[in-house]
Amino acid sequence: MKHTNSQFLFLGTGSSLGVPVMGCQCLVCQSTSEFNHRLRPSALITTSHEKKILIDCGPDLRQQILRHRIQAIDGLIITHAHNDHTAGIDDLRPFCYRQEKPLPCLLSKETAQDIFKRFYYMFDQETSKHQSVTKFDWHYLEKDTGSISLDEIKIEYLTYEQLGMKVNGFRFGNLAYICDIRSYPSSIFDLLKGVDILIVSALRFTPSAVHFSVDEAVEFSKKVGASKTWLTHISHDLEHEKTNAYLPANVQLAYDGLQFEFLL
Ligand SMILES: [Zn+2]
Ligand SMILES: [Zn+2]
Repeated sequence: MKHTNSQFLFLGTGSSLGVPVMGCQCLVCQSTSEFNHRLRPSALITTSHEKKILIDCGPDLRQQILRHRIQAIDGLIITHAHNDHTAGIDDLRPFCYRQEKPLPCLLSKETAQDIFKRFYYMFDQETSKHQSVTKFDWHYLEKDTGSISLDEIKIEYLTYEQLGMKVNGFRFGNLAYICDIRSYPSSIFDLLKGVDILIVSALRFTPSAVHFSVDEAVEFSKKVGASKTWLTHISHDLEHEKTNAYLPANVQLAYDGLQFEFLL
């Protein structure tokens, strides 16, 4: 079916451990509400031309792809190399078997170098010749900010750092996806000017060295001036309904499976 607008789908809205956290007895982890079940952070963009672009490929990738019956993807964007965003990269193989061309992948050179180390067996001389290994068509983000096309989709990108690692945020038309952020260059607001829908990570209420707290994310959203903000990368400290009651109406916790339209 053709949509006039593009679609954004949250495949996972959890923090690096996911929710429930293994072995945890807290109320959120024991909750039966689907809103409190969060797979590792990932999203899917479907354009009006039915192109499907996956953002990150964490440890829950297989489950996310099966849950949403995603039959093929046309491109992959990787925000950074941490495990919760890349651990499922080798599980992309079935898509590779069915597609004749390598999978276009957008990322920084630093992220790529890190992935080559983490998944060395996929990229060494011998293995990479093998039919069963996913082949990528790497598209490097050459600068800290800029714009690049992936399958004729115009994507703007920006850079910040987390634990000394380079992380990229992305803008697709009136939507921006900014994950794993705590410190950032003040110029970020110029690049986010005019964003209507902001997706930004917020770990918990208490401060963290590497992630926005809920209040910091609300503050950031105000500075961007987005009309709607969805929070993602959410830990088990945040109960869905209680947190949403605390938040302003235009800033809310996202949840796995949340889907909406945006203008690309
Ligand atoms: Zn993360
Ligand atoms: Zn818990």
